[in-house]
Amino acid sequence: MEEVIILGTGIAGCTAAIYAARANLAPLVISGQEDGGQLTLTTDVENFPGFPEGVQGPKLVQDTKKQAEKFGAKFKVDIATSLEEIEGGFEVALMGGEKLESKTVIVATGASARWLGIPSEDKFKGRGVTTCATCDGAFFKDKEVIVIGGGDSAMEEALFLTRFCTKVTVVHRRKELRASYIMQEKAKNHEKIEFIWDSTIDEIYGEKVVEGVKLKNLVSGDVTDFKTQGVFLAIGHIPNTKFLEGKLNLDDKGYLEADKFMHTNMKGVFAAGDVQDLRFRQAITAAGSGCMAAMEAEKYLSGLE
Ligand code: NAP
Repeated sequence: MEEVIILGTGIAGCTAAIYAARANLAPLVISGQEDGGQLTLTTDVENFPGFPEGVQGPKLVQDTKKQAEKFGAKFKVDIATSLEEIEGGFEVALMGGEKLESKTVIVATGASARWLGIPSEDKFKGRGVTTCATCDGAFFKDKEVIVIGGGDSAMEEALFLTRFCTKVTVVHRRKELRASYIMQEKAKNHEKIEFIWDSTIDEIYGEKVVEGVKLKNLVSGDVTDFKTQGVFLAIGHIPNTKFLEGKLNLDDKGYLEADKFMHTNMKGVFAAGDVQDLRFRQAITAAGSGCMAAMEAEKYLSGLE
């Protein structure tokens, strides 16, 4: 039986792994569906303390993983599909078929991109509709694209896409952006970025790839045609907790409930990162909660002895 299993290799899981490994607990970290988590899908991280010039998201999380490995953390690529309480601890089932046992579990499974949920979106997934500018932006060189959303992610995606695209139109469902002031200003002052307010996508169309969208004005109800070759969705995230339904307490949006010491309702199971954080969702807060969860797991294990 392992001492600690950590679910998720984002910045929260990897930070928990550093702390658990340094406490000599040789944690086993399960990658989850997105090895490295959301930071692998971003570019410049300008607000992580200690990097005055900024740091690339993928590098930050890879280095954190290396740091954990240096102290004895073990990493495994697989996805957790269930968590059961057993005598003396927990059983974690993996998609690959393996069943692992551990005295404690830290859930740091993060959150995944939200989709619009309209039928035509499915048809064009990977054919012009995407949730990741960092991954797919280069395919849209010299093209015109739209970005849906009004948060920091939408501004970041729009700014990133200006490197390749001739024009980027941000479509937002309200008149005010949710993004931070600095990101708003950067986007609003960029010559290649335009905004369409109070609107959302009614339908995406095209022969084989995206050729345009029907935009609905949410105030007037008018639907207009808008030619575009790419649709980038940046409309927030959904916590990865489906496999925990009925096992651990989740809130009405599906976020894992944890107290201020990162304890879930199940003794011995702790939470860290975006899976339990609807409010802050920052790399630094995820890392901080990973540290807290690992320290609490260590304390819990000492109590068992
Ligand atoms: P977010 O802040 O939740 O913003 C989501 C945006 O999508 C909102 O503008 C929302 O509109 C819109 N939206 C949601 N559902 C929609 C739907 N069905 N149709 C159309 N629009 C929809 O998410 P985020 O931008 O991913 O940011 C998440 C967190 O990460 C935030 O705390 C953010 O500060 C942080 N972050 C920071 C940086 C940075 O500092 N560089 C970069 C990226 C993210 P409403 O505004 O009307 O709700």
